[in-house]
Amino acid sequence: MPLFDYQCPECLTTFDELQRSFDDPAPACPKCESQESRRLVSRTAFILKGSGWALDGYGGGKSMDDALDMIDKIKPKIGRDRS
Ligand SMILES: [Zn+2]
Repeated sequence: MPLFDYQCPECLTTFDELQRSFDDPAPACPKCESQESRRLVSRTAFILKGSGWALDGYGGGKSMDDALDMIDKIKPKIGRDRS
């Protein structure tokens, strides 16, 4: 199973969690139990999955965090399943 890194936006705790697949919802924060934890995408994974288009469009002062935010918008299911 893949091991993913997450960060809780409430208390800024970072933790890793084994997930069955990339599409699993983010786990609750182990410290404050917030459901808003975000998956941290490693630079290596970002480059492999970006296949060039994202990096090509992000040369003008944009940070890696901005690029990762864009990935979150493209994959709206990640960590946002509130059903
Ligand atoms: Zn937390």
